[in-house]
Amino acid sequence: MRYSNKVVIVTGASSGIGRQAAIEFAREGARVAVVARRQDHGLETVELIKSAGGQAIYCQADVTVANQVSAMVDDVIRQFGRLDCAFNNAGAAEPISNTVDLSEEDFDRVISTNLKAAWLCMKYQIPAMLNSGGGAIVNMSSVWGVVATSMGVPAYVASKHGVIGLSKAAALEFGSKGIRVNCISPAWVPTEANAPVLDNADLLGMILAQHPIGRLGTTLDVANAVKWMCSDEASWYTAQNLVLDGGYSAQ
Ligand code: NAP
Repeated sequence: MRYSNKVVIVTGASSGIGRQAAIEFAREGARVAVVARRQDHGLETVELIKSAGGQAIYCQADVTVANQVSAMVDDVIRQFGRLDCAFNNAGAAEPISNTVDLSEEDFDRVISTNLKAAWLCMKYQIPAMLNSGGGAIVNMSSVWGVVATSMGVPAYVASKHGVIGLSKAAALEFGSKGIRVNCISPAWVPTEANAPVLDNADLLGMILAQHPIGRLGTTLDVANAVKWMCSDEASWYTAQNLVLDGGYSAQ
């Protein structure tokens, strides 16, 4: 129960990696704020946590909108009284398109969801953590924040590279005040977001071959790593990017 007495925000917790992380934090005693736009899916995550004996609330927010992020953090403080950890995981990718074909609208949406939102979340979470005596933040990057791909997601690649720099800057600014900030960069993890690609047997075979360990990641692989990064066991770990990729980026 590493997280008893701790309050954790997980954004993008209505599905995939975020839902798994929310469940795993709660399993170790955290009071969890489940943040996402889709209320039905968010409440489903809360129900999964509560039915396993955990504590969670749903906070509806579009993390690209400043006043919604600010209201979400206020809501967490009002309901739980403090904030110790945040996993800023919400993200999106553009429809497959190269740098020339990519639309301005998709570029702005992806940068806003993956990069601006991580900044907005930290902007409001850090003061709340300072009031709680310190805290730990993990921002979601991607292995494509470390290496690029020609698969047709240039805005996604740019946004995920950006998240790593943004996180390091915040870590340097607030490290001496008791705030740790890190990133996690997974390679492929099957979720609803990438199902259309991984359902294609040829693409799946090609993608699997890029992972020297011989399998794709799981949402639990990522949740376990994030739980360690946010825990007191990782108290000297800050301004880092944890590449969790089955060997993908070593080739
Ligand atoms: P997913 O199941 O589609 O989850 C994405 C989550 O982000 C959803 O809960 C979605 O909730 C939320 N979200 C998107 N836009 C939002 C917004 N504007 N405001 C609030 N919430 C928003 O996909 P996933 O694979 O678990 O992805 C989670 C994160 O991991 C993403 O940042 C992704 O880039 C990253 N990642 C994934 C992989 C992978 O292979 N799966 C690898 C590396 C990195 P609502 O739609 O309900 O708002």
